Amino acid sequence: MKAEPVAQARLLDLQELDSELERLDHRLHNLPEIAEVAELKQRADALEADLMTSQTKASDIQRHQRKAESDVDQVRTRADRNAKRLDSGAITNAKDLQNLQSEIESLGRRQTELEEVVLEVMEEAETVNADVVRLGEEREAAVAKVTEVTARRDTAAAEIQWDRTRVKQDRERVSGDIPDELMKLYDKLRDQYDGVAAAPLRYGRCNGCKLALSTMELNEIRAAAADEIVRCEDCRRILVRTEESGLNAPVAE
Ligand SMILES: [Zn+2]
Repeated sequence: MKAEPVAQARLLDLQELDSELERLDHRLHNLPEIAEVAELKQRADALEADLMTSQTKASDIQRHQRKAESDVDQVRTRADRNAKRLDSGAITNAKDLQNLQSEIESLGRRQTELEEVVLEVMEEAETVNADVVRLGEEREAAVAKVTEVTARRDTAAAEIQWDRTRVKQDRERVSGDIPDELMKLYDKLRDQYDGVAAAPLRYGRCNGCKLALSTMELNEIRAAAADEIVRCEDCRRILVRTEESGLNAPVAE
């Protein structure tokens, strides 16, 4: 294949732009904020789950507390009623009086027990309610952090997209200077060789694979016409001759 040396040189410009596009894409897909957002979302979700567990627990305890309080009320009401009967003097039978007194005593013990239960449940409720408040605040902070880092990620992504657009415009302009046939070869080689299709020959070395060319290869390139497309024997990429190719100076083996 043949192409004017100027068109060959443009191939290096094109390669630089394509490599820049690849770097930008890599940066776009590997923004640290992407992993950070995922991590923060996970944390917010975990806090949300913990919060729901605590809220369920709090409402269970609330129900438990109401039940314990109503138990106390029932016993107290009964004890009050018995006390009134005792005070009224209506009961005169010694055995009945004794029974009533012993029931009042037993109700008093029961009330003390039930009041202890109420206190325990109230303490439990205090702990769980504090958990609900704390988890609610933590979740809110985590959600705010997700929003903040997401915004930072989007700003960084927009900046990269802006750079991509600019490089793509440059690429369009540069590719206009390159004959179609050479463009086809370039695109094919880029697919084949990790995105790098063209490399400068610099001081007797292929800049694509970084290997030094043999004297024989260099002699062949020296003998080739300037518009001949030369390929690296090792990596098969297009070798573009430059001022720094080292073709004029004798090359040390
Ligand atoms: Zn090479």
